[in-house]
Amino acid sequence: MSTAPQSATVGFIGLGSMGSGMTKNLQAAGFPLAVTDIRQEAADSLVAGGAHWYDTAAEVAAASDVVITMLPTPKHVRDVVFGAEGILAGISDGGTWIDMSTSVPDVAQEVRQSHSARGLHVIDAPVSGMSVGAASGMLQIFVGAEPAEFAEIRPVLEAMGDPERILHVGAGGAGYAVKLMINQLWFSHLVATAEVLAVGNAAGVDLEVLRQALIASPANSTFVERDVLSILDNGDYDEGFAIALACKDLGLSVDLAASVGVSFELSALVEQVYRRARATYGDRAGEMTPFQLYEDQLGRPLRR
Ligand code: NAD
Repeated sequence: MSTAPQSATVGFIGLGSMGSGMTKNLQAAGFPLAVTDIRQEAADSLVAGGAHWYDTAAEVAAASDVVITMLPTPKHVRDVVFGAEGILAGISDGGTWIDMSTSVPDVAQEVRQSHSARGLHVIDAPVSGMSVGAASGMLQIFVGAEPAEFAEIRPVLEAMGDPERILHVGAGGAGYAVKLMINQLWFSHLVATAEVLAVGNAAGVDLEVLRQALIASPANSTFVERDVLSILDNGDYDEGFAIALACKDLGLSVDLAASVGVSFELSALVEQVYRRARATYGDRAGEMTPFQLYEDQLGRPLRR
């Protein structure tokens, strides 16, 4: 790789809930930025800070040493990479594309195969940490890459993530798989915790007494101990991550399980609960709104 990361121009495509915070941190770390989005206004503050706006992904790729995508679904990634004015139309031979979206390896794999002569570095680096982590530059990042590629891009990733939690998890594709499994388990924790708290509380147990009993038991989890408090204390279902995207992740996770031939009954059930919440509360409702399905059954919110 020929990238000199400390002075590299970073291209960034997808300035939404996550991309907006990530680019602010790249800019604060001193990386020159080339950006685009279908919503030009999303780049206003970056451009005011010196970033260059381009109308197409091809132009962003041509102007960058490293180009990053942070897009909603694999279909968006495919369009931005393979479209007539997409990344592949602009990126130099030997260039680097990092997909930080929660996605599947198909598009990256297709790029490696159909453009094998160009020496491109195709890396997956999905993240955890919500829009709050993106804004604070403390994301956890799961990188699927060759070791030399990981070393080259690490300074760019460190501008967006917690250095202690930027993990090289394997070769290309491994980052996507790790991220999907994390989300699958977290969403499963959410649905299981909602059921347990709703049933226990309806059976007459004080909510906090029940939660503390769970914490002291082998059934404890980070979700019970920490994450559920945003609902129990603040009625916050995390609108920073839309349930439409959570359903996308669950669908990808179920597809991944099918593709590797492992049975996935629990994942499929959790996906169904999420789909019901999406149908009930709308696409933009927060990722934690499946919890509300149980509160609605009780006829009251579950609050400490
Ligand atoms: P978002 O919908 O808020 O942002 C996506 C951005 O991409 C938007 O600004 C949109 O205008 C832009 N976009 C869409 N199509 C485009 C195109 N063709 N060209 C240029 N720009 C385009 O989504 P988000 O919440 O930022 O999530 C991005 C990715 O990160 C998703 O894969 C999501 O699953 C993942 N993720 C999100 C969170 C979270 O808490 N929001 C956490 C971890 C991972």
